[in-house]
Amino acid sequence: MVEALSSAGVKHPGGFTYEAVFRRCLRCQEHNLVREDYFVCVFCGGDLPECWNIGLSVEEAVGLLDSELRRLAGLDAEGAWRAFLRFGRGLFDVPDMPDADGLLFQYGVYAFDGPPAFTLDLVRQFTVVDRGGDHDHYVQVHCELRYGPTSALQTLGSFDSWFFHDSGEDLDEWAEALGERAVWTAVRSFEPAEIRVYQERV
Ligand SMILES: [Zn+2]
Repeated sequence: MVEALSSAGVKHPGGFTYEAVFRRCLRCQEHNLVREDYFVCVFCGGDLPECWNIGLSVEEAVGLLDSELRRLAGLDAEGAWRAFLRFGRGLFDVPDMPDADGLLFQYGVYAFDGPPAFTLDLVRQFTVVDRGGDHDHYVQVHCELRYGPTSALQTLGSFDSWFFHDSGEDLDEWAEALGERAVWTAVRSFEPAEIRVYQERV
């Protein structure tokens, strides 16, 4: 619906579920999160279009998450979470099928290619369909924070929680409930040893 309106050059009415407003700068092609109705590109200073102009493709997602994270002064878990949520509010061009656009918050102690480490993994998962419109694969965009092997974090155990854009649930409520978890108090005392932003096909 949003796409149809913008291609007809009509400003779409307010009051959609997500208040975050994204625009693509037509001068430098960067994506902007519009704040306070201030339609100016934060990258180049150019004017941003007032009409919705982003049919964000899934391929662009990892770059958008990366640019949200780069805007932070320092990088800690709470900052990364806020950046991830801003990214999570942007709507992408996903197939019209259940659970095609999901956010996953998870943590636990995992051993990848080294010793076990506590890992906080913020994930957005998109369904990608084949030419026939059937499910083909998922694209997962990760913001992964890895910590050293500290017992305070290891005792947190593991946890995961999903949010889906088409569920009718409220993203802010989901985020708020997760914000009350003890994990935040625990990670506040530690610097992440490593932060990775990457995309994978699963
Ligand atoms: Zn620009």
